[in-house]
Amino acid sequence: MILPIYNAFHPILKTKTQPVENIDDGIVNLVNDMFETMQYAEGIGLAANQVGKSVSLLVVGDIYDENDKLVHPKQAYLNPEILAFSDEEEEFNEGCLSVPELREDVVRPTEIQLRFVDINGKEQNLFANGLLARVLQHEIDHLNGILFFERISPFRRTLIQNKLRKIKNGLIVPDYPMVLPNGQLTKEYVDVNK
Ligand code: ZN
Repeated sequence: MILPIYNAFHPILKTKTQPVENIDDGIVNLVNDMFETMQYAEGIGLAANQVGKSVSLLVVGDIYDENDKLVHPKQAYLNPEILAFSDEEEEFNEGCLSVPELREDVVRPTEIQLRFVDINGKEQNLFANGLLARVLQHEIDHLNGILFFERISPFRRTLIQNKLRKIKNGLIVPDYPMVLPNGQLTKEYVDVNK
């Protein structure tokens, strides 16, 4: 099921999420809906609070290397925790499904060491670099109530103030359904194939 995505200025995206206690049908269904929603909205990652569920859970889509080889198949990360960051940092142009039509360069550590629980309940340790490390850091920020435009320079932030205000007020909306800060839904999802 396609779920509406919450606007970055909705209070749920400023609230730290709660750990997943057990992997019941509700969590399994949520993960499946999040993959479907992410694919529909053409995102590479999605955090549970972006679809209105304040739990520590994120999904990342298939990641390919420069030779179009699948290096990280799509995966759900429950209760993810970054154990270590590299000293080396890099800049990358980020976007966010909760912040339509905004892209900004964000500096983040290049590599991370991560611990998480997979959808089968197994604890895993992962070393991530490249696009995966980037997406995981962006999504884990969401789970902690942090938005990517809060990590840019104060100068850049001033320059985009007007655009952020338009996004907040629902004057810039995406093609996919979105829940605005006041709780209003921009549109219903209609599956033309059904
Ligand atoms: Zn995001």
